[in-house]
Amino acid sequence: MSETDPIPLSALQHWIYCPRQCGLIHLEQAFADNIHTARGQAVHHLVDTPGYEIKSGVRVERALPLWSDRLGLIGKADLVEFHPDGTVFPVEFKHGGKRQKLHDDIQLAAQAMCLEDMLGHPVPKGAIFHATSHRRREVDITPELKQLVIETAEAIRAMLISGKLPPPVNDARCKECSLKEICQPEALAERARLKRLTGELFSEKE
Ligand code: SF4
Repeated sequence: MSETDPIPLSALQHWIYCPRQCGLIHLEQAFADNIHTARGQAVHHLVDTPGYEIKSGVRVERALPLWSDRLGLIGKADLVEFHPDGTVFPVEFKHGGKRQKLHDDIQLAAQAMCLEDMLGHPVPKGAIFHATSHRRREVDITPELKQLVIETAEAIRAMLISGKLPPPVNDARCKECSLKEICQPEALAERARLKRLTGELFSEKE
């Protein structure tokens, strides 16, 4: 990985969920399925064939390639709506109910920023389509969300360049993580605790 290699948009979502998960996937190319990844893949099958259709005057592009040289990001959008009034509106498909999740929102914000750079046109809103409830959740692409995209992309780039895997979070996130078996968060947390205890004992003797 060099300073100029683009980062996949999906890495932002992985990093916000858990930096170690991001490292395992994008540094070590680890992959494992669980019920959540299987559901996610099933949802994306609906929109992973490139093409477009016109619905009530709105051009809807599927699997649209996206990039930003400025941000060093590359990926694709599930759907992008191009409205007759000039509104450009990305829609990301997710499995599950209508719940706000920062890791979904950051991926959408990064897509909106790529579209802005590609088209030279503001993209102030987008939506997450929650497949289980068949409901859309509109997301404002706020300056705070954009700043988070920039900072997260920088953190991921630094991690990929260093080649160092972040430590495990070992919390409730691990229960739903498909990489739990590969990651071994409890074993690593125990090892870190033992190291700390040994260090404390040693320093007490001094
Ligand atoms: S098991 Fe936990 S620490 Fe490991 S990658 Fe998944 S969420 Fe992160």
